[in-house]
Amino acid sequence: MIGFDLTEELLSHQKMAREFAEKEIIPYAAELDRRPGTVFDWNIVRRFAKTGLLGLNVPKEYGGLGVDMLTAVIVAEEIGTACLGIMSAAAGNWLATTCLKHVGTENQKRRYFPMCCGENAGLAALALTEHDAGSDMAGIKTLATRKGDHYILNGAKTFITNAGIANFYIVFATSDPQKRHGGLSAFIVDGDSPGLTLGTVEDKLGLRSSQVGTLIFKDVKVPAENLLGAENTGFLIAMQTLDMSRPCLGGAAVGVSRAAYEIALSYARERKQYGRPIIENQGISFMLADMATEIEAARLLTWKAAWLIDQGMDSTKASSMCKVFATEMAESICSRAIQILGAHGYTSYWPVEKYYRDAKAMAIYEGTNQIQRMIIASML
Ligand SMILES: Cc1cc2nc3c(=O)[nH]c(=O)nc-3n(C[C@H](O)[C@H](O)[C@H](O)COP(=O)(O)OP(=O)(O)OC[C@H]3O[C@@H](n4cnc5c(N)ncnc54)[C@H](O)[C@@H]3O)c2cc1C
Repeated sequence: MIGFDLTEELLSHQKMAREFAEKEIIPYAAELDRRPGTVFDWNIVRRFAKTGLLGLNVPKEYGGLGVDMLTAVIVAEEIGTACLGIMSAAAGNWLATTCLKHVGTENQKRRYFPMCCGENAGLAALALTEHDAGSDMAGIKTLATRKGDHYILNGAKTFITNAGIANFYIVFATSDPQKRHGGLSAFIVDGDSPGLTLGTVEDKLGLRSSQVGTLIFKDVKVPAENLLGAENTGFLIAMQTLDMSRPCLGGAAVGVSRAAYEIALSYARERKQYGRPIIENQGISFMLADMATEIEAARLLTWKAAWLIDQGMDSTKASSMCKVFATEMAESICSRAIQILGAHGYTSYWPVEKYYRDAKAMAIYEGTNQIQRMIIASML
């Protein structure tokens, strides 16, 4: 049955996330955006931790909020309206908790989930990408060598959200690069493991309130009990995790689009040229009509992907579709919002230029939009 009424519980999470975004993120978003992209602000994490939102998808028995995917995308939309950079730090965390939730053992969950839950929660991260292995994950070269009751990791991971600041990382490494997909395994690596260091921290176009950097592994000892799932099943684990996380990106893209659209709408109603509000020109009002329509369409696609996940149904195609559609829409809507504000929109006085810089990243991470189209095409 199809219905769009949100339950009381869902509405209360939406309200909580909206209030958090308005009170605790929006007032700081511009300042964080202007800091050097290499400086991370822990206050945001502390404020996040107080709401419990860092443990959004962690089951209640481990201290999390234990929400379903539909709730998670609705929360992501609200955080996305406030700051995609801060949303990205949270999303890096949720990627790791999603993976742990689905393949972690009871012991792994008991040990690592509490690090993302409660007032003292910190961040987690998921590390796939390497210098020579971006879209082509099978090209991962970080080596995991079994030595008795532990593995030794050597290599480097690049462009990792929350690098250097996470309590733990879910790291994908290979037993033998020649085996490509078949040699990949996933490991939980403690953030303070000897031999694990932070390399370059990226100075980015947008998402400047999140930290993205390189992790270097030099003879990092990982206990065998920190292997996630079975050996050599890392590729499947990564694919399933990304399938389940992409709708949150869709939600965040809807959020930033909504924020840009609302600014553009109210500006167009107030800004007068030729003696009348610019919204009275069809050239502007049709742009706004398209923006409103696209946001609605992206939200429905995102909710559908989330709903499929909540039903335990295959969401791969819908997750990729919502990622492609919502993230490309976000970049385009932010661009159109700048156009509606004219020169004012091109300055940092208004947040739309920040939204535009932030939104650009969404078509790149969690699998580029070209890769999403390959996934969709393969399922047609
Ligand atoms: C802000 C940010 C945060 C990130 N956070 C994380 C993180 O937390 N963890 C993590 O593991 N990674 C993270 N990444 C890395 C991200 O997942 C990769 O950038 C992404 O997978 C693409 O890899 P690449 O940049 O090496 O591009 P490449 O794979 O080199 O691709 C370059 C271009 O070629 C295109 N392309 C490649 N192959 C094909 C093909 N077969 N057909 C058509 N087009 C193709 C791509 O779409 C892209 O446009 C992050 C990236 C950014 C920008």
